[in-house]
Amino acid sequence: MQKREFDAPAACLLIGVPVLTLFMLPYALYIGAATKAIWIYMGIHYCVDIFCITTGYHRLISHKSYEAHPVLKFLLLFFGTGTIQNSALVWATDHRLHHQFEDTPKDPYNIRQGFWWAHFKWMLYKDHKDYFKRIPPDLQNDKLVQLQHRFFFPMAFFMSFGVPTIIGYFLGSALGGFVIGGLLRYTLSSHCTFLINSAAHTFGKSRFSKSLTARDNPFLAFLTFGEGYHSFHHKFQNDYRNGIRWYHWDPTKWAIFLFSKVGLARNLKTTPDARIQLAETESLSG
Ligand SMILES: [Zn+2]
Ligand SMILES: [Zn+2]
Repeated sequence: MQKREFDAPAACLLIGVPVLTLFMLPYALYIGAATKAIWIYMGIHYCVDIFCITTGYHRLISHKSYEAHPVLKFLLLFFGTGTIQNSALVWATDHRLHHQFEDTPKDPYNIRQGFWWAHFKWMLYKDHKDYFKRIPPDLQNDKLVQLQHRFFFPMAFFMSFGVPTIIGYFLGSALGGFVIGGLLRYTLSSHCTFLINSAAHTFGKSRFSKSLTARDNPFLAFLTFGEGYHSFHHKFQNDYRNGIRWYHWDPTKWAIFLFSKVGLARNLKTTPDARIQLAETESLSG
């Protein structure tokens, strides 16, 4: 692996915000800034974060597992900024490398470099050398993706911390909004997403490959709206579903399906059942 430079702003965000949350949350609770309405708002904003990552950044931009109406795509990219998980351009470029080079040094969040490396340490080091040469042509030519990338950082901080503070003000406490809707929500939604790169490559069932690390894990699927069926996803990455059974908790696939019924999504890609069964049998016997 090439030598990479420490990224101080990323460290402030990834380590500083969770630490600040630990100090600020008890204070906010103590002074009564945590109104019931702010907790409800925090839950809704958490869902928006996860949904924009799974439906937008992951299954639409990274894998093109369906085509979205421009309005839906715009909304997913717009609200996706609030996750502060970098622009969809950078996120998808890294994610495609993760699939292409799974479990090797070229995988940006290679689990074989350790659980915490895959979880978040990989983001503490800049990898800017020739970075933009690695961006796939379809993303370079995607106007909405490029637009989001251009305005990403000011938008991200406003959406992630400014908006919760303003909403908190109207729900009883600007400080409560900032701490619970901003700091705590960011910490929860980002680390739940990161669990897919760490825990979903460590804990669970390898249904589709004995040699690779991706796992199916229903608990992680619950936290991340379906992304925990990761063994299936690595085997059939272009399928718009991650949980393939009707009872698999995958709200992302249900939402994409509903979008297709109202004209907001089309060309949903699926893998034939026979191919899935064959892959599972081969993995068991191999
Ligand atoms: Zn993975
Ligand atoms: Zn993926």
